[in-house]
Amino acid sequence: MSRIVILGAGVNGLSMAYEMRELARAGDRITVVANDPLFRSALGPWEAPRTRPDGDIEFALGPRLARKGIDFTAAGARRLHPGENRIELGDGASLDYDFLVIAAGPKLAFSEIEGLGPGGYTHAVCHVDQAVIASEAWERFVADPGPIVVGTAPGATCFGPAYQLALAIESDLHRRGIRERVDMSFVTAEPHIGHLGLGGSSECRTLLESALRKRSIRWITNARVTRVEAGRMHVSERDAGGGPKQEHVLAFKYSVMLPASRSIDAIAGIDGLVNQCGFVLIDDYLRNPRYGNIYAVGVSVAPAKEAPAPPGTAKIGCSIESVVTAAANNIRAQLDGGAPTHKPIWNALSVADLGAAGIAFVEQPQTAAGDSLSAGGWLHLPQCACCEGGGGELPQAHGLSRPAA
Ligand SMILES: Cc1cc2nc3c(=O)[nH]c(=O)nc-3n(C[C@H](O)[C@H](O)[C@H](O)COP(=O)(O)OP(=O)(O)OC[C@H]3O[C@@H](n4cnc5c(N)ncnc54)[C@H](O)[C@@H]3O)c2cc1C
Repeated sequence: MSRIVILGAGVNGLSMAYEMRELARAGDRITVVANDPLFRSALGPWEAPRTRPDGDIEFALGPRLARKGIDFTAAGARRLHPGENRIELGDGASLDYDFLVIAAGPKLAFSEIEGLGPGGYTHAVCHVDQAVIASEAWERFVADPGPIVVGTAPGATCFGPAYQLALAIESDLHRRGIRERVDMSFVTAEPHIGHLGLGGSSECRTLLESALRKRSIRWITNARVTRVEAGRMHVSERDAGGGPKQEHVLAFKYSVMLPASRSIDAIAGIDGLVNQCGFVLIDDYLRNPRYGNIYAVGVSVAPAKEAPAPPGTAKIGCSIESVVTAAANNIRAQLDGGAPTHKPIWNALSVADLGAAGIAFVEQPQTAAGDSLSAGGWLHLPQCACCEGGGGELPQAHGLSRPAA
């Protein structure tokens, strides 16, 4: 009997737990360690300006996992001790493992910038609770509008939602008939629009620049947000070499900024396990080179190729099926006394909602430049399942005609 522990119960952690249950031997014990008894789905950024989440996006993890014969604790990991094959839990208990899969996602580093984030003057949509607060603030804002700033802070690793949110906000302002009263800026750490932390194809850049330009959203790229105070954001625009180019002070009445992603504290700084930002180093088989019984999946994984500062390399949930299947098969191979043989496929198809239209693009592999596949109103529809235009009235509710068959 072996003990397999999965750290984190987000989309990757849960997928990993279910896949591992299928592939483990009958007597093997699987335990999921979360820091919340509930699974809470990430909200689409387009939902923040106009909807409130309901119970449908949350469920209790323990009973669901128990039905599959998977143990669960919501005590959270306080510290990993990889040399001892042990996790120190938040309640003081200790959990030993034979194999560990790290799927704990990022820590949102709002504190790196004074005044950034829900504890300061900007909103965020990385967590349901943040999106609810952003949504409530949006209702107050539209009653008395002013300038808006949306974007990403240096070190952010998720860029698509910032574009989607800016364009969803712009569409909502139109719907409410107050667009002309709002000045909009998009501030991003990316070296150019459409980079997305992946490099971005020239077509992706053109499409997104055009989308912003058509909607009169001005942008600042290579932007380092240095400080935020009530109604004012201080931004240092850098040149291509990273030197100072121009200083900006942007007035705002509503702002959503995605923060830098860093390691969770439980694994930060562990030599040989994580990179400088605390993401887990892996080989082709998703296994840590130093600790051969530790795997990592999802946002916890260190990128194969670090992007130049200031933005981080994009980290998205794509390829989840391929990645967790490979990790589970490799653990099974080790359980059987063999060596890991399964490599994941990193290719991805991404769909970005642009408020009333959208863009689909493929990355092959994920860390190479994205190639735009298609653009148009129909790409807004897949992301609309939760918005108020749902059901059969969806296309009409969004002013769209159905795509030709
Ligand atoms: C607004 C928004 C929209 C996004 N849209 C997309 C999209 O459309 N497509 C896409 O691919 N990606 C998207 N992303 C990126 C998204 O974050 C990832 O795809 C996905 O959530 C990654 O899953 P994960 O399981 O790796 O990490 P997470 O979903 O972050 O899950 C990690 C889990 O580990 C838990 N955890 C953390 N620390 C501990 C600890 N010490 N002990 C125990 N548990 C811990 C966390 O509470 C969390 O439940 C979006 C991100 C945002 C913010």
